[in-house]
Amino acid sequence: MHELAITQGILDLVTEHAAAAGAARVTAIDVVVGEMSGFLPDSIQFYWDELSEGTVARGATLRFRRVPLRLACVDCGSLFPPGDGCFDCSACGSPRVRVAQGRELRVESIDVEETA
Ligand SMILES: [Zn+2]
Repeated sequence: MHELAITQGILDLVTEHAAAAGAARVTAIDVVVGEMSGFLPDSIQFYWDELSEGTVARGATLRFRRVPLRLACVDCGSLFPPGDGCFDCSACGSPRVRVAQGRELRVESIDVEETA
């Protein structure tokens, strides 16, 4: 049920934004989904179709952009994709790494129509 809550959150944000912009209709939304966020675009789309019914965002297209997991080395600063079951830095071998991207889920942009 994770996706239901997050989809409701996206919808709330979008309808607020649309109201503030005086938009008649929301046509498309760009959503960034990290590979490691645990959220599946298909599930979000499923809930979206249901939740957006009857709102200003009904029928809006969700455009998902998947962001791959990238690790950042704390020691040398290099940015790299995780190796095969190995999370050590690919440049210097340091085990001190942090997740630089891939956990996010956010709305990047919202396309609206000003007139009906
Ligand atoms: Zn390193």
